[in-house]
Amino acid sequence: MKRFIGFSVIVLLILGCIGYVFRTQLVMAMLPRVVLTNMTRNLIAEQPDGLHLMLCGAGSPLPDPNRSGPCVAVIAGDRFYVVDSGSGSPRVIQQVGLPLSELEAVFLTHLHSDHIDGLGELQMQHWAGGGADAPLPIYGPAGVEAIVDGINLMYGPSRVSRVAHHGEEVVPLAGAGGVARPFVEPKEGELIPLLKEGDLTVSAFKVNHFPVEPAVGYRFDYKGRSIVISGDTVKSANLEHYSEGVDLLVHEALDSKVVARMAAVSREQGFDRRAKLLDDILGYHATPVEAAEIARDAEVGHLLYYHVVPPLLLAPLEAVFLQGVDEVYEGPVTLGRDGTFIVLPAGTDEIDSRDLL
Ligand SMILES: [Zn+2]
Ligand SMILES: [Zn+2]
Repeated sequence: MKRFIGFSVIVLLILGCIGYVFRTQLVMAMLPRVVLTNMTRNLIAEQPDGLHLMLCGAGSPLPDPNRSGPCVAVIAGDRFYVVDSGSGSPRVIQQVGLPLSELEAVFLTHLHSDHIDGLGELQMQHWAGGGADAPLPIYGPAGVEAIVDGINLMYGPSRVSRVAHHGEEVVPLAGAGGVARPFVEPKEGELIPLLKEGDLTVSAFKVNHFPVEPAVGYRFDYKGRSIVISGDTVKSANLEHYSEGVDLLVHEALDSKVVARMAAVSREQGFDRRAKLLDDILGYHATPVEAAEIARDAEVGHLLYYHVVPPLLLAPLEAVFLQGVDEVYEGPVTLGRDGTFIVLPAGTDEIDSRDLL
């Protein structure tokens, strides 16, 4: 037996050495299969008919290795939309196999930089990577026109050089950039339908991110399944109203006890400017417990946290972030990270959650 084990170890060592010596040849031999898998992967086609959601950015303006800037991808049947596009989010979309060529539109909750930092890259990948033949529609409250015009201007030289390099038949100029679809901010008590496609309705409602105005949340309804996405807001009765009975509430949250402590430490150490910034953000976001109160009172099926502040750089901070949540809301809760994927098959009450990354 000992001799057999010794022989096996020697064989494994020899194979390992051969693998190491020929590693470049091996990886080049595997490359076509990897490339083909990446090119043909389509998360939309892999799903049952229904309303599904993938967090393309679970974070905030502050860097968190597990959470890109705020971004929510929604799949309704075979259609694909994005709500906000924070820094890094277009790469998450591509990593999980969501084809940007099939992206139908973007919805902006408000015009804060962290919600639009990825928009230029998203528009570019929709066109140059996806081969779009029409600009990407960008829905948003008043002011979205200037954002889209600015991005189109910024990417002008790249657009010209890519058409000259690859040719119009590969990158049709008519599909470049974005086109703004502005709408008037709904009043309290108003739910404005913005898009109706087959069984899907996308609607906007007002939230409270004061002093940042306008600011809206979105509701997606498809074949009896429903999702509300909060955008940035304090605890909002209006949001609670439009979340009543939804399958999935995707709510932002800021852990005020940790952020207040960070502000105090910054002030003690003489970093007054940083302390002021941290103090200011306490005033226009909801806490995890406040979001849970909305989930409880609106009787939603599942609560998903995104726009997680502060960055959860140490694993135990996740438990700190969720402290008190289970005392308020008894339903299922997910602390979002990039790649969190929630599936709501049509014609069922099922809600499945898993990580794609
Ligand atoms: Zn904001
Ligand atoms: Zn934000």
